[in-house]
Amino acid sequence: MLTTLEQHRSKISENIGILRRTLDTFPRVRLGHLPTPLEPMDRLSEELNGPRFWVKRDDCTGLSSGGNKTRKLEFLIADALEKNATCVITQGATQSNHARQTAAAAAKVGLGCHILLEDRTGYNSEEYNLNGNVLLDQLHGATISKRNGGADMAAEMEVLASQLLSDGETPYIIPGGGSNTTGALGYVVCAAELEEQASENNVEIDALVHATGSSGTQAGLVAGLCSLESDIHLLGIGVRAPQEKQEKMVHDLAMATTDFLGNGVSVPRDVVRANCNYVGEGYGLPTEQMINALKMLAQLEGLLFDPVYSGKGLAGLIDLTRQGYFDGMQNVVFLHTGGSAALFGYPNIFGLPGYN
Ligand SMILES: *Cc1c(COP(=O)(O)O)cnc(C)c1O
Repeated sequence: MLTTLEQHRSKISENIGILRRTLDTFPRVRLGHLPTPLEPMDRLSEELNGPRFWVKRDDCTGLSSGGNKTRKLEFLIADALEKNATCVITQGATQSNHARQTAAAAAKVGLGCHILLEDRTGYNSEEYNLNGNVLLDQLHGATISKRNGGADMAAEMEVLASQLLSDGETPYIIPGGGSNTTGALGYVVCAAELEEQASENNVEIDALVHATGSSGTQAGLVAGLCSLESDIHLLGIGVRAPQEKQEKMVHDLAMATTDFLGNGVSVPRDVVRANCNYVGEGYGLPTEQMINALKMLAQLEGLLFDPVYSGKGLAGLIDLTRQGYFDGMQNVVFLHTGGSAALFGYPNIFGLPGYN
């Protein structure tokens, strides 16, 4: 007789096979070091007296210092190549990790890369505007051009695309954060990968927590976990939009992603959860909780997080643990979406001696 747990695992593993075969029908270029490691964070678990914490190391995807956009770009860049693009266009905030990984991915396959950077913070320091991701964008050979905060970035990309077209280029537009159905496939892959690692390591993952912004990461995970009939409790920690808007964005994209997969899986509204209480004053603006969380993990686990996304996600993880959100759960995974390159754009927010 199989136990219920064994039955559950065997159902999931059958579903992983089906999902992998579906994913194999989409064009994909290999850009990332996958699977990324799943590692325990035992000193954090002890410090918080909480469940056992694990970190899924999507900061180690390998491409230009790594991060979550690499998984999305495996599908987006493949689509650009299928469509005979000569260059890609994308947009983000000044310290966009997405822009940096797109610049690297384009370089690797020999496409041109044009990046539009929106000034969402109004910071005028040299580090913010030239160091960190901005330095790396340029090292990868991307052209960057800046736009004021609040600009209609999608429209700006269209304008640039028509200029490039008239110059004889074939541009391919990648939306901000790589968040469309094609990009979200990268996180459908991640959902399958995580369930495989849970089986291999013999851990029952109760919850998965991560920073959510342009929504493709969470939407892909939701679409993947629903396709697998997984019962992992997924929670996004918002970094920009209020809860209702964030959850709607994720739900809409998750539904569009299962449609795109064509597997007939429906996405119940209540599996989309975003907690947007850790945004602070706004996107890219530091909070005290983020700073404390980031320092705590740097010093307890030797891990680097970023001020805009993963640091705020962690602030949520830590605070919610203290509030008892994970009570009764045994294994909680934090998806490390990367971003540490942005630290060099924000050297003076930590109150460290010598920086001001
Ligand atoms: C883009 C990004 C996120 C958010 O992912 P979305 O798919 O945009 O929701 C989280 N963490 C880091 C470091 C990022 O660069």
